[in-house]
Formats: sequence, C-alpha cells, structure tokens
Amino acid sequence: MRKEKNNTRCSFCGRDKSEALILIQGIDGHICEVCVEQAEELIQEELYTEGPDVRRDEFSLKENVRPKDIKTHLDEYVIGQDDAKKFLSVAVYNHYKRLKQNKNDDVEIEKSNVLFVGRTGTGKTLLARTIARFLNVPFAIVDATVFTEAGYVGEDVESILSRLLQVCDYNIPAAEKGIVYIDEVDKIARKGDNPSITRDVSGEGVQQAMLKMLEGTEVNVPPQGGRKHPEQKMVKIDTRNILFICGGAFDGIEKVIARRVNTQVIGFSNDGNESYDRDNLLQYINHMDLKSFGLIPELVGRLPVLTYLEPLTKETLMAILTKPKNALLKQYQRLFELEGIKLSFSSDAIDFVAEKAIEFNLGARGLRSICEAIMTDAMFNLPSEEGVDSFEVTKTYAKQQIERSKLSKLKAA
Ligand code: ADP
Repeated sequence: MRKEKNNTRCSFCGRDKSEALILIQGIDGHICEVCVEQAEELIQEELYTEGPDVRRDEFSLKENVRPKDIKTHLDEYVIGQDDAKKFLSVAVYNHYKRLKQNKNDDVEIEKSNVLFVGRTGTGKTLLARTIARFLNVPFAIVDATVFTEAGYVGEDVESILSRLLQVCDYNIPAAEKGIVYIDEVDKIARKGDNPSITRDVSGEGVQQAMLKMLEGTEVNVPPQGGRKHPEQKMVKIDTRNILFICGGAFDGIEKVIARRVNTQVIGFSNDGNESYDRDNLLQYINHMDLKSFGLIPELVGRLPVLTYLEPLTKETLMAILTKPKNALLKQYQRLFELEGIKLSFSSDAIDFVAEKAIEFNLGARGLRSICEAIMTDAMFNLPSEEGVDSFEVTKTYAKQQIERSKLSKLKAA
C-alpha cells in the first residue's frame, strides 16, 4: 500500500483525490481517510459490541493450571502471606472456571471478587499485580478515595473502567476479562455505625454506585475518564467477567474484631478452649466486622472472598530484600554487574536495612528509599573509577550512608 499521487478517486465514496486528505492505494482500488474512519467504527461495532461472548470465550486459564500452581507462581514474587495467596489462588481459579461454564447450566456460579485487609505496604497491590501478570490480562489500579457520588465534584465510579480500557489500549474484549485493584476501599466506609439521613457524598453513595459494577452489568464508560471531556462517546463495558480485588488497611478494625471475639467467648465458649492470638486479630476477620466498620451489607456481599495480610516482621522484610525473583538487592546487583562490578551485601547490612524500615514505620514500601540512600554514592562514583571489580555493602557503610542522607531526618519526624 502506498499514498496515491495521481488524480484518482476513493473506490468507496468516489471522493476525488483533491477532496481527500489522504488516498491510500490498494491492489485494485483506493480508500480515503474518511472511509477508513468509518470502516474502523464499523469494525468496532460489529466485533466488539455485537458479539463479545464469542471473543471472551477465547480466554481461559491455561489447561492443567491448578490453584496450587497459581500459589507457587505467587511465591516467586511475594514473601509470606500464605493465607492471602491461598484465598486469591482459589478465587482466581474459580473465576476462570466460571468463565468456562456452560451458559445453560442451571447452577450459576457467582463471581468471586476479593477483599484484602492489611496494613499499607504488606503486599496487597503486589499480589493483585502478580496474578494479573500470570494470567496475562489487563490490570488497572484505582484509588477509591477519588470517587464521589455522581453529580458531585470528583470522579464517577465508572472511571474505574476507563483506567482499565486505557491500559489495554481500548481493547474492549480484553478489558472485559481484566482485573481491577481498588485500593483504599476502607476510606469509603460509612462514618459511624448508623445509616446517615444526610447525604454521605464520599462514602455510602460511592459504595452504592460500585455495587452493580462489582456484581456484573453493562456500564457506559467515558473512554478518556473523568468529566473533562463531556463530548466523548461512551463505550459499553460488560463487567460480568472482570475480577475486582479490593484492598484496604481498615485502621482500627482490630478493635471491632476484638469486641466480637470477646462476646463470642463469653456467649458460647467460656470453657477456655478457644484461644485467640491477640497480637494478630486480623486473621479472624469476617464479613460482620466489615459491616460494623461501615461497609454497606450489599457491598460486603459482593466481595465474598475475604482475606487478610500479616504485618511484616524484620525477617520477612529481609526476605523481601533478597528472595523474590526481582528482589531489590538482586536489582542493584544486576545494575552493578552491567558495569562489570560484583556487588555483595553482608548479612548484617541486610539486617540493618530491615531494622531501619521498621524504625521509619514505612513497611516494605520504605525498603526502596532506604536502599537508594545507601547505594546512590556508590552508583555515582564507581562507574568512573578504574579497576574496581567488586564492592561490598557492610553494615558500617550502610549506617554511614543513612546518617549522611536526608532519610535520617525521618526519625525525628
Ligand atoms: P499495599 O499492601 O499497600 O498494597 P504494596 O503491595 O504496594 O503494598 O507493597 C509495596 C511494595 O513493597 C511492593 O512493591 C513490594 O516491593 C514490597 N512488598 C510488600 N509486601 C511484600 C511481600 N509480602 N513480598 C514481597 N514484596 C513486598
């Protein structure tokens, strides 16, 4: 195909070359830019609006992948969090079994949307991202705090799907089998235990708006997101097969759990057999606690798979630094290797980094900034030094770099 220069016409609309901006020549004819655009619209309508079912069926979990295989994959990237991994593996496995289900089956398998409860930086987003990569489906992260009820300042919940569309280049069938991670759902909890009579713009209204989408429905989505482009043409997305994974820290929910657990102990089993690990109450979380926290029952019902993430201990943080396939320290080693330098970390240096992360209360999120503070000087100087072929980061070196960095000021804050 090439751009036609001679005086010819579009074989579809008859437009003369002088009237068209571009005239593309095929083997036996020509097409102008207007007809190309119309053809594209037609293709979109025919293929993606009329018959999404056909395309959706093309996707299924690889044959012979079982929940255990999914967990093994998660183990390569995420340290610990065994319970969360197990719940997620089963949820995803069932989700894709459901996609394969015969449409005439009289037992309809419900969607297994997931809710992760756990402190910030414990791996909630990482789990969702890792599973999406494993399944090779589009993945979008959205923050529930930006949403408000329709008609108020902020974003409509439909823009969750705009994000998903954008990451897969507006490929609707791909988006319709994607995974969305909705962070900070705890922030849209109803304030106080009683349903409010006044409008709760950022809380209950948003939960209400999310219901249908989570359950599965056709949603009109503004492809560009937001309300900045009122003229944009809406795109229809069916959310029946989109897996929603929600996450939140639910600060203070331990108190709700403790209250429930105590009542149960007094009410049903005061023989002392029941013992609870009071330091990690999150593991006993159930759907009732979420309702007490301020999620409306309908929303809780649409997040049937509920699991928790454990707080990270020093040992876990050390493992996060070294064990995962793309562990942080492995990344530095690879960077130095590209310079021809063998980089190593003494075990007390690794211990020190983990301790600092706990001290700064940054969880695993803080590991990166601590390592950057330690490594920047070496990354700056070593490439221009002659004859250096190895470098060891010791605890003394790490400590000295942290003290010189701005990070050490965090302690005072
Ligand atoms: P959140 O629970 O707040 O969603 P993230 O999943 O975003 O936390 O974690 C932040 C970063 O910390 C991740 O990019 C990852 O590098 C690291 N991290 C957190 N938890 C783990 C874990 N269990 N295993 C491996 N890395 C982790």
